[in-house]
Amino acid sequence: MSGRRTQGRRTALVVPAALVLSLLAGCSAVADAVAPAGLRRGVDVPSRSSEVRDQPIGRAPRAPEGEGGFAFLATLPDGSPVAWDPCRPIHYVVRPRGAPPDGAQWLRWAFGQLTAATGLRFVDDGTTDEAPSADRPVFLPRRYGDRWAPVLVTWATPAETPLISDTVLGLAGPRSFSAHGDRALRWVSGMAVFNGPALDRKLATGEEAKVAAVLLHELGHLVGLGHVADPYQVMFATNAYPVSAYRAGDRRGLALLGAGQCFRDY
Ligand SMILES: [Zn+2]
Repeated sequence: MSGRRTQGRRTALVVPAALVLSLLAGCSAVADAVAPAGLRRGVDVPSRSSEVRDQPIGRAPRAPEGEGGFAFLATLPDGSPVAWDPCRPIHYVVRPRGAPPDGAQWLRWAFGQLTAATGLRFVDDGTTDEAPSADRPVFLPRRYGDRWAPVLVTWATPAETPLISDTVLGLAGPRSFSAHGDRALRWVSGMAVFNGPALDRKLATGEEAKVAAVLLHELGHLVGLGHVADPYQVMFATNAYPVSAYRAGDRRGLALLGAGQCFRDY
């Protein structure tokens, strides 16, 4: 990572990591109609989920008018974004160690904002003691059972993980899977790492707007938004001007990310 970082920088963990399991299977991203060879349901990848509905659970709101653009972390061959499956809930677990005093409420608020902007349903599965790791697998059956690993949210310290530093307040990104080449890519798991001590200090000094901006920014990455050059969007790379609510450009991108395809194969 290159040298100069501004205070309050936030980053996206990602993403050429896209074809995680396809790479494991030794399969390049060519469309095909069968599961990647060698991937066993319940062992290497989840069995079919019983949570998949026929229709999206929530509805992505109509994209608002107004200034501001958006960017996606990854796109499908037709130009639409790689997105989460809207026909099933997205589970997350939280490692509470090192959280600011109101960390749980802050997370509930931020996921609520994300749901409002995407229509995606997030389910809090409670706490975990799992540590953040850059190469976290998307399937961890011994820890979380026969399903995609829930999104891991941690409040970490720079001493614990190189994913953050004294000037990096957060980092997040989704992980993708496809059994049918590029056109069937979707996000199936992910991670968000927040700098617990740094955000705690900001809350202690009345900088709630910056904390809100960091949470919304990282959750924006988690559903597939990338950075934009406009400092008045949440997805600007730093929070020099803390934008503590999703703006029109952010919302246009988030609405599209809430309107992804549904998948029944895993
Ligand atoms: Zn970022």
